[in-house]
Amino acid sequence: MSPEMRSAPARLQGAEPTIFEKSRPGRVGLTLPPLDVDRRPLEDLLPRDMLREEPPGLPEVNQLEAVRHFVRLSHRNHGVDLGFYPLGSCTMKYNPKINEDVARLPGFAGLHPYVPDDLAQGALQLLYEMEQYLCEIGGMDRVSFQPAAGAHGELLGLMLIRAYHESQGRPRKKVIVPDSAHGTNPATAAMCGYAVVEVPSDDRGGIDLEALKRVVDEDVAGLMLTNPNTLGLFDENIAEVARIIHDAGGLLYYDGANANAILGISRPGDMGFDVVHFNLHKTFSTPHGGGGPGSGPVGVKKKLEPFLPVPLVAFDGQRYYWDYDRPQAVGRIRSFYGNFGIVVRAYAYIRALGPEGLRRISEDAVLNANYLMTRLAEIFDVPYKRRCLHEFVVSGTTLKKETGVRVLDVAKRLLDYGVHPPTVYFPLIVEEAMMIEPTESESKETLDFFADALAEIVREAQEDPERVKGAPYTTPVSRLDEALAARKPDVRWRGPAAG
Ligand SMILES: *Cc1c(COP(=O)(O)O)cnc(C)c1O
Repeated sequence: MSPEMRSAPARLQGAEPTIFEKSRPGRVGLTLPPLDVDRRPLEDLLPRDMLREEPPGLPEVNQLEAVRHFVRLSHRNHGVDLGFYPLGSCTMKYNPKINEDVARLPGFAGLHPYVPDDLAQGALQLLYEMEQYLCEIGGMDRVSFQPAAGAHGELLGLMLIRAYHESQGRPRKKVIVPDSAHGTNPATAAMCGYAVVEVPSDDRGGIDLEALKRVVDEDVAGLMLTNPNTLGLFDENIAEVARIIHDAGGLLYYDGANANAILGISRPGDMGFDVVHFNLHKTFSTPHGGGGPGSGPVGVKKKLEPFLPVPLVAFDGQRYYWDYDRPQAVGRIRSFYGNFGIVVRAYAYIRALGPEGLRRISEDAVLNANYLMTRLAEIFDVPYKRRCLHEFVVSGTTLKKETGVRVLDVAKRLLDYGVHPPTVYFPLIVEEAMMIEPTESESKETLDFFADALAEIVREAQEDPERVKGAPYTTPVSRLDEALAARKPDVRWRGPAAG
């Protein structure tokens, strides 16, 4: 199987003419009946200074060309519906299509946010039940659906922690974050005005308890932790960590963006956490990537409930309603009630699976990750010799030493196999890291294909390193200045003159 043969279809390759180049003057994609009313000059309808000098330079194509243009573009975007997507930490799992149908039911999709509660009983009931499910899954007492993403949930979580300490008359200054943390954790703490204190990991990949004890004092507002962490490892000392923080009067924040390893198995609330956010757009199967929309609901233990944003959904035994009577609330952090459509998708997913199904997700996710880790241990370094949970990290240090090929090159070469690369160079504490999360929804054949592809790339690196360093060869563009492409994407067509 040569990568060229397994690669993205030919239609993705080469310089396909743009839709502008296909344009022919006067070509149209639809037929309208003749105008049967008087045509008034545009100047009568719009102020003269608002009118264009010339018509916009839109492409003129027929329907088929327009359809092909957009379908072709959609295929240039790698998605989980097109191929394997083992992007560690991001849980790119299969998103069941029925969730889309449910979210599009007119009673949900067409509901106006200002509709009176009495005309939105179904939607309110859904949110009410979803709150109970997330409380059960997370071991929490109340949930707010306002945050629009994981990082937004973190922001709310730390605002709640701050409000709590202020209510105790003892505002605090520091937030502790382990060196394996997702980058959003220290960023959020800094945004909230806290000093970020980093603690190192020990040689099992968990928090170094002695280092933790050294930094904990009366000024610690809390600790932010993902467990299992971004190494895919469960912190075995979590109960002790929680005791240390709580004894100093601090609170524990659980970054549950990726809860794919714990569903029905362990609960942040039982581990000692006081606040948690979930990413419905990861664990609960909502399509994501490309910036949204997401949903990062935040759950809290009772002592933080008074500070949750207005409004919360409530039920009086007869009817569901929005409860605005929350004098200590931190306010609102988003318009209306959050991204409701995302909650509907996650609700459909949870209801379809039930408790046993949710547990099975995590068991299969862990099984898949361990299978893949065992296969990849033959060709890469494995920094922590432990069973992993939903994801794992391997290192390309030896490969780099022997061949000069970096994991960045390996990641690029994977594109020629039609596979989205794993997360690379993260977490920061592992040199030449590749962080891989296969998820529960992939078959053994796909995992084997991926492991075989990586083995082939490693072989190629040993025989012809330049070949790997020049990859990818089958994508519309090859290596970009990634910072520039992300910060200043140049996606505008300027006409033939501009080349
Ligand atoms: C994805 C992720 C986040 C951030 O979530 P967004 O929805 O992208 O803001 C935070 N922490 C962890 C561990 C994550 O995997």
